[in-house]
Amino acid sequence: MVRILAVDDVPENVFILQTDLEDEGYEVLAAYDGEEALALVRQEPPDLMLLDVNMPGLSGLEVCEIMKADEATKNIPIILVSANSLNDDVACGLDCGAHDYIVKPYQLEVLMARVRSALRLKQAQDELVVAYAQLQKANEILNTMATVDPLTSLGNRRYFLERFSVELARAWRDKTALSFLMIDIDFFKAVNDQYGHLCGDKVLESVAKSFLKAVRTVDVVGRIGGEEFAVCCPKSSANEVIVLAERLRNAVAALRINFEGNFISVTVSIGVTELAPEDTQTKDLYQRADRALYQAKEQGRNRVVQTVAQTIN
Ligand code: GH3
Ligand code: MG
Ligand code: MG
Repeated sequence: MVRILAVDDVPENVFILQTDLEDEGYEVLAAYDGEEALALVRQEPPDLMLLDVNMPGLSGLEVCEIMKADEATKNIPIILVSANSLNDDVACGLDCGAHDYIVKPYQLEVLMARVRSALRLKQAQDELVVAYAQLQKANEILNTMATVDPLTSLGNRRYFLERFSVELARAWRDKTALSFLMIDIDFFKAVNDQYGHLCGDKVLESVAKSFLKAVRTVDVVGRIGGEEFAVCCPKSSANEVIVLAERLRNAVAALRINFEGNFISVTVSIGVTELAPEDTQTKDLYQRADRALYQAKEQGRNRVVQTVAQTIN
């Protein structure tokens, strides 16, 4: 039910408003001064307020200004009801943020039409607030979907490459080291073939978790393909990152992943490279790390291989 708050220091005026509005089917609350009106508004926010201007204590204009300055009450439309009929009074009332201004004594049909107009505005505003909240929620979900890999909760390929670019730009700017790791699970297809795709998924989740445990908080980890992961390590030389890579490799090799009573073990191969002076884009590091990874596979898997840039002096 639509709730309207009628405020006037003359009880008889409130009574008349209340009767007229209740006849139209509105629920009507009453207040007899500004303070009482503000307290009621916070307790039981109305859909509309009919507010007398001349009252002892807080005037209607002051109540109006207070409500419009408060996030919680600013969207409640206010119709000022006043015996002051000068143009200046009307203008001043509307400038205080009132939706409308009615001069007493009012004509019932006109008052009701203005009440309906104010209520339409309130409804449109309420709908906007709901729509905005829904939009924000949908945006959050979209953003998560666009950046997070749902299986492992790691950043997805797109998110990883974006962060990698940012870190590369920072390394150039600050003239700091940066290293890059590409990791691929060995013989992963065999896990799927032997135990099924769900088991493969569980292995991917467990491997991702073990990576997150082993890296530093500044390192960026992403799932860049089916069973391929990448780590970008800011402020780290390849020599430092080889130690991290070995830690990651050992962490995965130590996993015993329980899938329906079968304890699955997997290993990973890792390609490592570091930022070289001639690198101009992430692709340069990516290609070198990929080459190193290929060599790790060639050399028998479950190992870390580093590729150094062919620096021309
Ligand atoms: P290698 O040691 O040479 O890397 O061999 P591999 O078997 O790991 O590599 P291959 O590229 O032959 O197979 C990768 C497999 O990963 C094939 C694909 O079905 C599986 N895969 C990719 N994404 C997913 C996934 O999200 N879930 C599961 N369960 N399997 C996946
Ligand atoms: Mg593989
Ligand atoms: Mg692969």
